[in-house]
Amino acid sequence: MYRWNGWGDEQVDMPLPEAAAEMLNELVGSTAPGPACTKEELLSRIPESRIRQPISLVSTEPEERLLHSYGQSFPDWVGFRFGSISRFPDAVAYPGTTDEIKDILAFAEKENAVVIPYGGGTSVVGHLDVPDIDRPVVSLSLERLNRLLDINPYNRLASFEPGVRGPHLEAQLKTHGYTLGHYPQSFEQSTLGGWVTTRSSGHQSLYYGRIEDLFAGGRLITAKGDLQLPPYPASAAGPDIRQIVLGSEGRMGVLADTQVIITEIPASDDVYGVFFPSWDKAVDAVRSLVGAGLPLSMIRLSNPVETMTNLIIAGHEKQIALLKHYLRLRGLFDNTYCMALIGLIGSRKNAHTGWRHTRDIIKQYNGVAVGKSMGNAWKKNRFLAPYLRNILWDYGYGVDTLETAINWDNVRPTMAAIESAISSALSEKKESVHVFSHLSHVYTSGSSIYTTYVYRLAETAEETMDRWQLLKSRASQAIVNAGGTISHQHGVGTDHKPYLSAEKGQLGVDLLNQIWSFSDPDMRMNPGKLS
Ligand SMILES: Cc1cc2nc3c(=O)[nH]c(=O)nc-3n(C[C@H](O)[C@H](O)[C@H](O)COP(=O)(O)OP(=O)(O)OC[C@H]3O[C@@H](n4cnc5c(N)ncnc54)[C@H](O)[C@@H]3O)c2cc1C
Repeated sequence: MYRWNGWGDEQVDMPLPEAAAEMLNELVGSTAPGPACTKEELLSRIPESRIRQPISLVSTEPEERLLHSYGQSFPDWVGFRFGSISRFPDAVAYPGTTDEIKDILAFAEKENAVVIPYGGGTSVVGHLDVPDIDRPVVSLSLERLNRLLDINPYNRLASFEPGVRGPHLEAQLKTHGYTLGHYPQSFEQSTLGGWVTTRSSGHQSLYYGRIEDLFAGGRLITAKGDLQLPPYPASAAGPDIRQIVLGSEGRMGVLADTQVIITEIPASDDVYGVFFPSWDKAVDAVRSLVGAGLPLSMIRLSNPVETMTNLIIAGHEKQIALLKHYLRLRGLFDNTYCMALIGLIGSRKNAHTGWRHTRDIIKQYNGVAVGKSMGNAWKKNRFLAPYLRNILWDYGYGVDTLETAINWDNVRPTMAAIESAISSALSEKKESVHVFSHLSHVYTSGSSIYTTYVYRLAETAEETMDRWQLLKSRASQAIVNAGGTISHQHGVGTDHKPYLSAEKGQLGVDLLNQIWSFSDPDMRMNPGKLS
């Protein structure tokens, strides 16, 4: 069972080590526990449904409507934890076949309702926000559509229903010896359809590719009919329409059966821990590694503040003290060194040789490799970090993340500008913010920058949102000013919408709007997004 008002499996908790609580107390300030509105309180506020004649696949039960009224963005959290959420879908539909998706769209047309496709509900940028409009809103849950439809190992293709979540998808491929290799941090809850329609990126994208490299084709159900997307390995027949479906955020239609490229499960898949003496050296080392043609699966490079924060959050004080002692002996000092996790993947021989070459490059930048134990710990706990959001809220801290991507020559100034914008955003309110970053996905020409910030919740939803707005808008403006993309992986949704035209230009936004108004003339599909 997933938590209704937080992240993840109800049975899983991530404790906050005492040292981490002390660090936050010192850096951000003391707090009172964050509010936790009850489900009953929220249920009592749900207005009557505007649906006139529900059909059998459609529920107007208040609890279903509540659970489909938000995702996982910070404003969503404020809504369900403070109880300030005010808009709910009028109904939730549960199709079990593609034909039933069409039945729901026909039903929505009859009711003059709008439809929001709902995958795993893990959007962190307000994709699932219920619009404030004078029409009923139907959340179209894809949870029943989670089967493997076909696998063709010869072509390395598999076809799934769109609502399949990460663990179920991988388990179904594993029985055939294959993997998709797409592991976003939200893997446990997010779905294949959601990944495609938000242009998601997984931990090991350096080897497997982002979702746009893995999405081979499928079928989009639109108001104008079915859009077939054949899985050509390549095509020069004009612009690739799959690229428009990727990132369409429910605006163009419902992605039904989805074909993906699969890979034989590699024999070797290891992650090594490496420390670099400074951020400058570390960024240069990573850039060199990416250009060296190595069998890398991932590079995740934390800046000094994130390195320090992660070591404290990890607990294990004695082992960390030994590690720090060892690093000092090797000439690396606290508060300047940066930790990298570097993955090598493929046949045992290639991965082994690849690691030897990787180590040679690391040495050129005075990096110190510390073996596989940190990498193994990361692999074991890789999906646990988001559970910290639950405990931090209980302590009275809000935590949010944002991300961009930019060319190598701008990585350092952009990260500095984002962090500076965030650290100073609440100074007029005399509030401190703990901010840190890492490079999470690296490319030949540049890198993503992923920034986390922790600050104090206020007593009211309004003031907490005010703080968040300041943090989000100052950081987003810093990204835009630096020439970075407004999102490397989370998408646009509601939260990034004000910055879309800075990236696409007004002509680009107009072009997108023309596509949506052609495929969805009645503004039925997730209206207001991507426009
Ligand atoms: C803790 C946490 C960690 C995260 N880590 C990552 C990460 O590492 N990488 C990353 O890329 N993202 C990450 N995200 C963001 C989020 O998980 C992704 O955006 C994900 O792709 C959303 O998938 P979903 O199934 O939950 O979609 P939802 O949140 O349900 O929907 C997102 C959007 O997709 C549309 N949609 C969903 N399914 C369909 C469909 N079948 N047809 C048409 N439209 C559809 C919805 O209408 C909506 O506009 C994270 C989120 C959280 C909460």
